[in-house]
Amino acid sequence: MNNTAIQQRLDTFSRVFEFLIKNSFSFTVGVMCLVHAGLLIFMGATGVMPLFFFNILSVVVYIFCFILCNFRLIMPAYVSIVLEVTIYTVISTYYIGLKCGTYCFLFSIIPIIIYFGSYLFKGTKRLSIAIMLLLNFAVFIALYLRFGNSEPIYDLSPAARLFIVIYSAFAMVFSVIFYNAMYIYTSEHEVTSLEQKNKQLSTDASEDALTSLLNRRGFLPIVDSLMKDESSSKFSVAFCDIDNFKHINDAYGHEAGDEVLKHITLLIRKEMNGSEVCRWGGEEIVILMKDLDIDEAREKMEHLRNSIEVTPTIFFNKVLYVTITIGVAQNSEIYKEPEDVIKVADERMYYGKQHGKNIVVYEDH
Ligand code: GH3
Ligand code: MG
Ligand code: MG
Repeated sequence: MNNTAIQQRLDTFSRVFEFLIKNSFSFTVGVMCLVHAGLLIFMGATGVMPLFFFNILSVVVYIFCFILCNFRLIMPAYVSIVLEVTIYTVISTYYIGLKCGTYCFLFSIIPIIIYFGSYLFKGTKRLSIAIMLLLNFAVFIALYLRFGNSEPIYDLSPAARLFIVIYSAFAMVFSVIFYNAMYIYTSEHEVTSLEQKNKQLSTDASEDALTSLLNRRGFLPIVDSLMKDESSSKFSVAFCDIDNFKHINDAYGHEAGDEVLKHITLLIRKEMNGSEVCRWGGEEIVILMKDLDIDEAREKMEHLRNSIEVTPTIFFNKVLYVTITIGVAQNSEIYKEPEDVIKVADERMYYGKQHGKNIVVYEDH
């Protein structure tokens, strides 16, 4: 079997398991009903008529519980299961004796009491789970003391006894394995989805929603760590601002402005492959250029400025040309904080705005 086939099987398995978890209570009730249907046949075949009739009653109880589950009335169904199993264990032990092992049914509901109880009872109400478990144990001890040495009313053949012992022990083992597996799967699933939510939250906190560029919160620590890293503190930053952007909004609407912003973001991403890019504010974008000195950065920005100038945004059938003004600054040891070097680039950009726009300014004037 190749990896894809294995993965497909695993996916199917987890889908089935997720379905079971979502419908776990109905599933439990359904299985209980089937177990009693099996016991009904067994008791009828072995002639234990009181238990035959009691099993008919149990099947009816579980059909009723199934209906309750459909109406999301889990608590009454939960109580019915616990009572039904306890009463069934006592009555069956009375009729066919302790050696038939039907007390295993009593143990089989321990995982059910705990698993569903933990959803149904919160806070101090969880004490109810402990009380139910203690009562469960007390019933077993009482059964042992009362019927441990007495003769049963119906003495089953050794083969029939072996069958019922295996049947009830299987119910117990299945219950322990199934509900533990469900518990493990549910908690692992919750941990994974919590991790994903955390990841999403931290992305949301450091990313701009419109352009998916980093915001200041995500960008500044990157510049900061670069400044502190002596081996790679050579870098330049560019402060870009779209020219006459207000005019785009005024003339074509805010949505057209958004489209221009996204288009320019894409162009910058394409040109600056691998560089960290930040949406600093409205139509201001700051680019971090690692390992580039001022001349290399200026050349790159000149190229970027030019490609923005010649590549229009198409918004519905309108062709919108925009330009950007860029200020570039190189890091040096006189700058202590990321904002210091960015401020210099901003001032150079501002100078460009006052001297015709659509230019790259790379020195102080
Ligand atoms: P200059 O060339 O001097 O930069 O002029 P400008 O019009 O680009 O600058 P100004 O600061 O006067 O206007 C910026 C405009 O950008 C104002 C604001 O409404 C718009 N803006 C800011 N953020 C967004 C945004 O996310 N979407 C849109 N559509 N417009 C935005
Ligand atoms: Mg601006
Ligand atoms: Mg502007």
